[in-house]
Amino acid sequence: MQIATPAAWYETRRLDDGVTHIWEPHIRPFYRCNMWHVRGRDRDLLVDSGMGVIGLRQQVAILAVRPVLAVASHTHFDHIGSHHEFAERAVHRAEAEILAAPTREATLASTYVQDKTNTDLFTMLPPAPYRSDAYAVSRAPATRLLDDGDIIDLGDRRFEVLHLPGHSPGGIGLWEAATGIFFSGDTVYDGPLIDDAYHSDVGAYASSMERLRSLPVRVVHGGHFASFGRERYLELIDHYLSEKRCHQPKVGSSAQRIADSSAKQRPA
Ligand SMILES: [Zn+2]
Ligand SMILES: [Zn+2]
Repeated sequence: MQIATPAAWYETRRLDDGVTHIWEPHIRPFYRCNMWHVRGRDRDLLVDSGMGVIGLRQQVAILAVRPVLAVASHTHFDHIGSHHEFAERAVHRAEAEILAAPTREATLASTYVQDKTNTDLFTMLPPAPYRSDAYAVSRAPATRLLDDGDIIDLGDRRFEVLHLPGHSPGGIGLWEAATGIFFSGDTVYDGPLIDDAYHSDVGAYASSMERLRSLPVRVVHGGHFASFGRERYLELIDHYLSEKRCHQPKVGSSAQRIADSSAKQRPA
């Protein structure tokens, strides 16, 4: 497989609303994390930091000059690889330990990043001396622990933290009510959703989706794949919930409660 140059590892695109999309073009779409940069008056926000195989701040000029708070939507390897490059780092407290001491197992790298999976993962390899078998996320203890309802204040823009367990226990979304922008992490994106990782919880995932259904979003920037609007957002949530209602959920789980309540509403 061909080897990419450091300068070609990241690409960026400026969107509306002061948001810049940053991504790793040589990682295949299913594994390719979306990074989101928001320019603020007092400091900037970075949602997720990619695989960390090439210095992100070295290569992406907008991240090098101003103070940046690097938030982790959650702690899978594809989202936190460059967090250690930033002085300010935030994560939900349920995954603080993984960001502080990221093992290959806890970050899912042991499952997805091995030399034998290189062609699944990459279209071009990261620059030498990269080896997938030796790949590991650098430790990046949080300087701020997040809880549901916390506000991330950039001076002129405010993002509310929504705790959305399910894909992982400390998954969060960031909601900007003033613009209707929602950074949804791996909870909702326009592609196959993952609820069977070692620390996933289908019942919690369904509850998170039910909660998100009432959020008046205008545009969703997810952890993977392309951004989308309100209509697609509702479709994706409803599709997930209807699929889970069809399966036999665990007794007492929130998915069971959903199944029970919809059964009661069904006309006899
Ligand atoms: Zn994930
Ligand atoms: Zn992901």
